[in-house]
Amino acid sequence: MAQRVLIIGASVGGATAAISLRAQGIETVLIERELTKAKPCGGAVPPAAFHEFDLPESLIDRKVKNCLIVSPSGQETHVPVVGSVPTGHDYVAMVRREVFDGYLRERAQQRGADLIHGQVIGLTVEHDGVSARYRSMIDGSEHVIRADVVIGADGAYSPTAKFLGLDPLPRAVAIQERIALTESQMARWEDTADLYLGREVSPDLYSWAFPKRDHIAVGIGVGPGHTRHARALLENLKRRLGASLDGGRLLLREAHALPMEPRRQMAFDRAMLIGDAAGLVVHTSGEGIYWAMKSGQFAAEALAQHLDAPAAANLRSYEKRWWKQYGTMYTFLRWLQWWGYGNERQMEVFTEMCRNPDVQRLTFDSYMHKQMAPAPWGAQMKMTWDIIKSQVRNYTQRRMPVREQDTASRIQATAGD
Ligand SMILES: Cc1cc2nc3c(=O)[nH]c(=O)nc-3n(C[C@H](O)[C@H](O)[C@H](O)COP(=O)(O)OP(=O)(O)OC[C@H]3O[C@@H](n4cnc5c(N)ncnc54)[C@H](O)[C@@H]3O)c2cc1C
Repeated sequence: MAQRVLIIGASVGGATAAISLRAQGIETVLIERELTKAKPCGGAVPPAAFHEFDLPESLIDRKVKNCLIVSPSGQETHVPVVGSVPTGHDYVAMVRREVFDGYLRERAQQRGADLIHGQVIGLTVEHDGVSARYRSMIDGSEHVIRADVVIGADGAYSPTAKFLGLDPLPRAVAIQERIALTESQMARWEDTADLYLGREVSPDLYSWAFPKRDHIAVGIGVGPGHTRHARALLENLKRRLGASLDGGRLLLREAHALPMEPRRQMAFDRAMLIGDAAGLVVHTSGEGIYWAMKSGQFAAEALAQHLDAPAAANLRSYEKRWWKQYGTMYTFLRWLQWWGYGNERQMEVFTEMCRNPDVQRLTFDSYMHKQMAPAPWGAQMKMTWDIIKSQVRNYTQRRMPVREQDTASRIQATAGD
């Protein structure tokens, strides 16, 4: 009898894992509880996802070629989206998750994966297989499904991780509104995405305005200590954007959690976790789509090798490969979040640092192509010197942050500010 893999969650990570498993002829079942609503998301995707997973560009609403970074005091840095060697594929893709996820799910089904519209409500791992209990989202009936191995692709709250007895991960929250604008208003964001830094829009992460075909998605991310202020921070961001949003029509308000720590262990006896369930969001950008897809692919490839002996010792080859390939990048981006968003003076330094052309190229090499090549020695010296100058300037003469309203004063200052 064919081996079967059960994947809980059929969003970007789960669907990609299913496609990779089917490519190797492995019988695969996806269970997804939500097939109509989109996953709350800014929908910024690197070109690497399109090349590595052979995705059509028709999924892209807009190609962003410029980023505007605005510091707490209103300093602006305009950054072209270009890597060290211009490739013709230098852009940030803006997608709508309802379109993107729908495509991946459909591809998984076309390649032979079964899709059940149900919510998993129980999971047990036994010596000879796994059993999941689920409730049909069509008629509410309850069923049990058995498989050889389970992949938890069920997001930041991961029921799979809970059923495996794992602790929840520390979580940030991101809240976003999609606002329909006229064509002439959208011209301001033709191929530009905005990032705003500052205590009153995001004390420890960042806030954004990401352009989609006919609307702008404005949102804020906020770390575990500040989640209760999320709505007030979003209102502040909209005030900042001011007249650009005048007359806009609210299409959707959406919010969700983001994991803030990768799991130490991502593979167990007969079970694996991928994407947000494994905590694989990167810190500086809150980026998780590519990482969910890539971890889905890596998990599927490890499973294909060990499906006859799916013990933790074998399946952990997935996480070993992961950290070997991406450990340095994760560590660096985590440090960058701590360093760049630590307080408002650092946010000023971060904004100024982004004016250095080598910083720009390194940033977009790592974002667009998932490569981290060290900069030449001379460039490193220049970057360091620019940062030291900026740091001295911002710590000796404080730039006054823009304050939109009272709420900001109720939002606690971050450490060192
Ligand atoms: C507001 C916001 C903005 C973001 N912006 C970006 C961005 O611009 N770019 C980027 O790369 N990342 C962004 N992220 C992060 C990105 O959305 C996630 O990292 C990514 O969706 C993770 O994919 P995943 O497949 O691991 O999990 P998810 O996309 O969270 O999918 C989990 C799936 O599991 C299903 N599920 C859960 N429980 C059950 C159950 N019991 N039974 C059946 N199904 C279940 C859910 O319905 C869901 O479909 C953002 C996140 C938020 C919240």
